[in-house]
Amino acid sequence: MSDASLDLKEFHWLMDMIQSVDVGLIVMDKNYQIMVWNSFMENHSNRSSELVRSKVLFDIFPDTPLAWIRKKIDSSFLLKNRAFSTWEERPYLFKFNNYRPITGSETFMYQNVSIIPLSSVNGDINHVCLIIYDVTDIASQRKELHLMNAKLEQLSHTDAMTALNNRGYWEERLLSEYKRFGRDHNPRTVVIFDIDHFKLVNDTYGHQAGDEVIRKVAKTLQNNQRETDISGRYGGEEFVIILTNVSERNGRIFSERLRKNIESLTIKYDNTEIKVTVSLGLAETNEEDESELAWLNRADTALYHAKDSGRNQSVLFSTIS
Ligand code: GH3
Ligand code: MG
Ligand code: MG
Repeated sequence: MSDASLDLKEFHWLMDMIQSVDVGLIVMDKNYQIMVWNSFMENHSNRSSELVRSKVLFDIFPDTPLAWIRKKIDSSFLLKNRAFSTWEERPYLFKFNNYRPITGSETFMYQNVSIIPLSSVNGDINHVCLIIYDVTDIASQRKELHLMNAKLEQLSHTDAMTALNNRGYWEERLLSEYKRFGRDHNPRTVVIFDIDHFKLVNDTYGHQAGDEVIRKVAKTLQNNQRETDISGRYGGEEFVIILTNVSERNGRIFSERLRKNIESLTIKYDNTEIKVTVSLGLAETNEEDESELAWLNRADTALYHAKDSGRNQSVLFSTIS
């Protein structure tokens, strides 16, 4: 007698605990009919225990990914094994709003889900328990971390002054284009260019004005390039670009357009107007180059010729003997 009353009391405690615990608890039978629906589930779904009791889960929540969860539940019944699903695999089972103040940026609740087969006294499995964990805080922190890492990675590739690729990263891209050329033999043309008499700009207008010129030239380069072109700031006032699928002759159309656009720029700084020109060297990929730097060196030789023969012009490596 006393034993039985103790069991009943414990049962009440147990129900209290199930109700107040800060995870979602659902017990279902083999027909997916809901037997237990705790306060967490009531509060977040806005559906009372009375309302859902003995109803089929999928009838009340038609948005639940039916096939997926059914497979997990069925295999849990069959194999008498626990199953688990993380928010990374699937962000949530039930679409609940997120009310948490710290992770206010997330609109819904991320969930981990455990499925536990419940055995009766004789060992039969006639029910499963679903435990829904609110992991919004963890998920949103993890996502933020990924975002920060992506930003850091981007920053490590970028020249702070111009937002172009920096030299280190651009050289990596040069190497991969050189290697790709070895495989696909499609032409690529590298262009290197340098602002003419830039020392004079610094000396006449000051270093700050010089910086502004560099930024405007970089902007002009960006505005002239295609999405598949890979530009970079190679040195102080030296820039580079790889034109993919472009021969030297067609590269010249690009480089002359860029040259003229830079020539027609009027850069305003502190009430003064500054004009600059650039010299450019071009070199197409060549089976004889022993490295990516040999390819770039040929463009640099062409640039040297452009400087030497009067500046403000494009020179193709193939035209110099
Ligand atoms: P050239 O036509 O032969 O290229 O003549 P140049 O005067 O431009 O000569 P050079 O290319 O050798 O000079 C580069 C100058 O650019 C030297 C350096 O003081 C200046 N410079 C390099 N980096 C920066 C920078 O970030 N900002 C500014 N303002 N000047 C820079
Ligand atoms: Mg220079
Ligand atoms: Mg220069």
